[in-house]
Amino acid sequence: MQESLDAIGEALTENGKVIVTGCLGVKEDVIKDVHPSVLAITGPHDTPAVMKAVHAHLPRPHDPYTDLIGVKLTPPHYAYLKIAEGCNHRCTFCIIPSMRGDLVSRPIGEVMQEAENLVKAGVKELLVISQDTSAYGVDIKYRTGFVHGKPTKTRMTDLCKSLGELGAWVRLHYVYPYPHVDEVIPLMAEGKILPYLDVPFQHASPRILKLMKRPASAEKVLERVRAWRAICPEMTIRSTFIVGFPGETEAEFEQLLEFLKEANLDRVGCFEYSPVEGAVANALPDHVPEDVKRERKARFMATQEKISAGRLKAKVGRTLKVLVDEPGVGRSSADAPEIDGVVRFKGGKAGEFRDVRIDRADAHDLHGRLQ
Ligand code: SF4
Repeated sequence: MQESLDAIGEALTENGKVIVTGCLGVKEDVIKDVHPSVLAITGPHDTPAVMKAVHAHLPRPHDPYTDLIGVKLTPPHYAYLKIAEGCNHRCTFCIIPSMRGDLVSRPIGEVMQEAENLVKAGVKELLVISQDTSAYGVDIKYRTGFVHGKPTKTRMTDLCKSLGELGAWVRLHYVYPYPHVDEVIPLMAEGKILPYLDVPFQHASPRILKLMKRPASAEKVLERVRAWRAICPEMTIRSTFIVGFPGETEAEFEQLLEFLKEANLDRVGCFEYSPVEGAVANALPDHVPEDVKRERKARFMATQEKISAGRLKAKVGRTLKVLVDEPGVGRSSADAPEIDGVVRFKGGKAGEFRDVRIDRADAHDLHGRLQ
């Protein structure tokens, strides 16, 4: 909460005009108390209210084509494609389900229509998001919809196949390692969707995962990661982890470090556990002292940095296709915007695909020359 309030403060200082939307929007009184000058506050998933506020404070000519697409706060060449809202899980550190409710999947026909509109409008990369992308369609029993008159199930694999036909890059976020996820790996190997999976593992100790109530915590994750890479060696795996979860022992933390070394993940984010107001995990016993959390995060990051650097170094000498975000900066299939590293070079125009020969790697980014 404090972090979000600070971010609002920063935005007000830098820009002066701020609209708050999303989960924090439900705490309108708290935001108003701290930042009375925000222009508007809306709850999650309330596009009409956001657009009303945007138009009220930033009038612009009516454009029937882009209005059809809805709110898009990204550069013109990539866009987030939200396929569902809410979540059926109850991870003990998370309050999203209590704010956004259970999973509600958007019908496949509607999602595909939006995706097509975006690609027609010039979007080159679609970032598929939801709280649990692998659960897409569970709530509506994978109901059959229609995509260009063809019966298509509201299901992750079918969605990926349909998106793979659009000719844009398709990147999957927030996928859990359920067995049916194996079905999309061949699509990655065939080049239909990007060989990239964002899988928030959060921990590796079965006891901690159980305390966290994580989805798919009992799946054989390492075996699965190896099998995915055997089918699609190009695959990039990104993940996030929490260290210092209540009750985490030194042995359990070391188990996590061992997992990191075995899994050889490309990109990893790490958070120290911090109690979110209203989260069930706050009531768990044996909270880890702050200095221990900090120390574990530092050890975690040191271990992962070596792994990530090694995986980046292996790309030196290769030629990679990149999507240029701005002159001199682009991203390969391994790099999602905002959260991963980038590829640096001289030249290029935003929104174009280029080949870059990689000359060197540092801890996070690659450097090379346009071909
Ligand atoms: S899967 Fe867990 S962490 Fe993710 S939104 Fe659902 S409850 Fe929260």
